[in-house]
Amino acid sequence: MCIFCKIINNEIPSNIILENENFLAFHDINPKAPVHILAIPKIHVDSFNEVTPQIMKDMTLFMQDVAKELGIDKSGYRVITNIGEDGGQEVKHLHFHLLGGAKLAWSHLSDADPKSMI
Ligand code: AMP
Repeated sequence: MCIFCKIINNEIPSNIILENENFLAFHDINPKAPVHILAIPKIHVDSFNEVTPQIMKDMTLFMQDVAKELGIDKSGYRVITNIGEDGGQEVKHLHFHLLGGAKLAWSHLSDADPKSMI
């Protein structure tokens, strides 16, 4: 069982922000911004590659509720999902990072030379 499935099953503790029948949002253990939340489906989906439009429809509404709950919906935030090896996905259970609480840097992308990534 993957680590996020264990969190869903309460086998590993987490700091929950919002939960409903199908989704869970909790604090990232290693925050990269003042607000860093992970939103996941309770059903195991490996990554964005495998997710269905129906799950994404409901997940979108859930993440919008998470942003409101955190009070970052007006100030702004970033949503990221890493996919596979090149995307840097460490946990193989679909999750969206919600990052906010400060003006976020974009330097790792805007200053990057694509050739240096090869
Ligand atoms: P990714 O690199 O996109 O797969 O992101 C995985 C994220 O999960 C990282 O930001 C980790 O800090 C986070 N993480 C791993 N284990 C836990 C945990 N037990 N509770 C909360 N966040 C976790």
